[in-house]
Amino acid sequence: MTACYEMCTQEALQAQRSQLVGLLASGSLEGFESILDWLLSWEVLSWEDYEGLSLLGQPLSQLARRLLDTVWKKGAWGCEQLIAAVREAQTGCQAPELSCRWDPHSPHPAHDLQSHRPAIVRRLYSHVEGVLDLAQERGFISRYECDEIRLPVFTSSQRARRLLDLATVKANGLAAFLLRHVQELPVPVALPFGDAACEKYMSKLRTTLSAQSRFLSTYDGADNLCLEEVYTENVLEIRTELGVAGPPPKSPATLGLEELFSTCGHLNEDADTVLVVGEAGSGKSTLLQRVHLLWATGRHFREFLFVFPFSCRQLQRVAKPLSVQTLLFEHCCWPDVGRQDVFQFLLDHPNRVLLTFDGFDEFRFRFTDRGERHCSPTDPTSVQNLLFNLLQGNLLKNARKVLTSRPDAVSALLRKYLRVELNLKGFSEEGIELYLRKCHRQPGVADRLIRMLRATSALHGLCHLPVITWMVSKCHQELLLPGGGSPRTTTGMYLLIVQHFLLRASPPDAAPRSPGPGLLRGRLPALLHLGWLALWGLGTCCYVFSSRQLQAAHVDGDDVSLGFLVRAKSVAPGSVAPLEFLHIAVRGLKVGHLKLTFCGVGPAECAALAFVLRHLRRPVALQLDHNSVGDVGVEQLLPCLDVCKALYLRDNNISDRGICKLVEHALHCEQLQKLALFNNKLTDGCAHSVARLLACRQNFLALRLGNNHITASGAQVLAEGLRANASLQFLGFWGNKVGDEGAQALAEALGDHQSLKWLSLVGNNIGSVGAQALALMLEKNVTLEELCLEENHLQDEGVCSLAKGLQRNSSLKVLKLSNNHITYLGAEVLLQALERNDTILEVWLRGNTFSPEETERLSQRDTRLLL
Ligand code: ADP
Repeated sequence: MTACYEMCTQEALQAQRSQLVGLLASGSLEGFESILDWLLSWEVLSWEDYEGLSLLGQPLSQLARRLLDTVWKKGAWGCEQLIAAVREAQTGCQAPELSCRWDPHSPHPAHDLQSHRPAIVRRLYSHVEGVLDLAQERGFISRYECDEIRLPVFTSSQRARRLLDLATVKANGLAAFLLRHVQELPVPVALPFGDAACEKYMSKLRTTLSAQSRFLSTYDGADNLCLEEVYTENVLEIRTELGVAGPPPKSPATLGLEELFSTCGHLNEDADTVLVVGEAGSGKSTLLQRVHLLWATGRHFREFLFVFPFSCRQLQRVAKPLSVQTLLFEHCCWPDVGRQDVFQFLLDHPNRVLLTFDGFDEFRFRFTDRGERHCSPTDPTSVQNLLFNLLQGNLLKNARKVLTSRPDAVSALLRKYLRVELNLKGFSEEGIELYLRKCHRQPGVADRLIRMLRATSALHGLCHLPVITWMVSKCHQELLLPGGGSPRTTTGMYLLIVQHFLLRASPPDAAPRSPGPGLLRGRLPALLHLGWLALWGLGTCCYVFSSRQLQAAHVDGDDVSLGFLVRAKSVAPGSVAPLEFLHIAVRGLKVGHLKLTFCGVGPAECAALAFVLRHLRRPVALQLDHNSVGDVGVEQLLPCLDVCKALYLRDNNISDRGICKLVEHALHCEQLQKLALFNNKLTDGCAHSVARLLACRQNFLALRLGNNHITASGAQVLAEGLRANASLQFLGFWGNKVGDEGAQALAEALGDHQSLKWLSLVGNNIGSVGAQALALMLEKNVTLEELCLEENHLQDEGVCSLAKGLQRNSSLKVLKLSNNHITYLGAEVLLQALERNDTILEVWLRGNTFSPEETERLSQRDTRLLL
């Protein structure tokens, strides 16, 4: 490799190609992405290059080859930079912090985010969750965008990168916000170990927990409540031992959730388990969920490096013997690399580990310390023996455990092994009101509910139990009906919520449509079957039901469809999930964006997808990039096209035939607004069809046709469609061959266009003639904000034309001219034009023909030139 570093010319790169592929592909995706960070920061890679290289799910070797091809095309300079980036990435991952500062008030925040990207990613890495929350709170990103970034497949640094990527394309101040905010973030503290495998595992755990704990699993699955938005402080008291001689007991001390591990009043100093006791519905699971979220987002409990959540309900279904190692890795989170090292670290640092066990009362085995004493973390034993030995400290001594339970299941024997016991008391008076206000933000509703509660003391009393307040909140319409009496007992409250469910499940034309005895009577057989099943489950400690058990209770498909039973999270991967009462995970598919990239989706899968998706009530963005959908698959998707708001089909082997079929259908699908067809086999043959789509669909927003085979004649046809369109905002042509003539046709059509904000003609063989036409377009156009012309054949002549266009333009903010053949002369003319244009924020000029002195001089003249 050393030889390669030294002879870093194009030829040497080619000669050492297989070794380089090996080197690049031998590490992790994380390592590869950090190389991309450096290359982006030095502008070796254009944004389009980067997009083509930051594809998730592809084999790393394939990405490595693509990277080599890309830098090879940039000449010897590009090759040298690649080698330098590999070096930086290798040394960078050992350095605790990059000594890099940037101007937090830079006039080019997006550009600076890019040029300091490696350092910014490192700084952002451990704070990304908090920064995402803040960015959403301040309105820089939508909830949907936030969820996209938080997809569980991404690690923390990948999330950080995706956030930066978003800032590059969003011109709403996000970039400036990030640049300022990241500067203020604390410098990451080096972990007490330098083990990359452990760091990676920690990051994966955080990502997983953050995804799992973000949304509150509501009983009816009707809402996707963000825990952050509705979580309300629950009264938590330390249980002190009664009957102990000494001064009279004071009233129990209350504590905040953050003090969970820092309480005094320990029952047993040597024990590691904190027990949280509360009635059903008092909020035990929600409390643990909050603990997980606070840890995963780095806001509290930082003393723990690893947190492993378990549900006793799920654990008791594990029939096979298991060890601590299998419990942690196979039933919670699998370490992708260095399994043994990670496990050894956990064993060596148990005080940095937290395990949570929810619902001990649902574990059918009663606690005993008389079972087999099991001390080996790698030898298997029964699940109950494993749990009991963990609680006693025979296994993972000093690892902290939190156990939640209803009071009945707590025995004196268990108390022997507790460090502290806490009582979860439910909502305080203020808590009830605060919760209702969080759930009902529309004016007046919460006020009316609160007034009603204050006037009905029986119901108010019940509301200290959070689950009842939730029911009140859910049934607010029924409760606020004039003349409708309020329930006075828990049973009354449960009956009301049952009716609420029945109303939701009944078809619109079914009678009766209001709560009351008639509604319950109509569904009596189903309710009796379900009630019998619930009672039997409680009696036998069975909370998850197989189809045989359902049959025995005479619960049929119709009864299930009422929504009281939902699919359990299956513990055995691959097996059909059994049903459980609707406490957990959620009913129905409530997604705004369905991402199935690199999943081997072919025509058969498309048919199945369409079959399911067409029943969706809300429109969905369907992302099927990098599959093998093909023309046949496209046809299979047609039945669900009218529930799609966006369809992403990058890299799917689709030809004109498929697209023509798609468009024919899309003409009548009003919800479909975005189509991404990057990297397929499209030619001019589909242009008529796509032009028709543009002309007919006056709410269409984004069309991305990059990396296909569209030439000038295709562009001319498409231009006709553009002329008739008044809604398109994004048009991508990167990597086609429209040439001067095509650019001319598009430019002419866009002169009067009313909505287009972003146009990419990167890498399209455009020279002076095309530039001249685009310049004329700039003179007339009043909406375009970003024009990407990198990697064309623009020379000074073309730039002079563009400069002229800029003098009369007042909408363009970013003009990208990197990697063309512009000299100092051309730049000089641009500078003159910029003197009279204050809309332009950035002109990208990297990779043109300036000497180092010229670059220096130009950058001093106008900071908007990015050189
Ligand atoms: P438990 O585990 O004690 O049976 P849960 O945690 O499942 O109780 O709580 C029942 C319901 O009450 C939850 O689904 C949620 O809607 C509501 N809830 C409980 N605790 C809170 C809280 N702290 N803030 C907001 N809602 C809560």
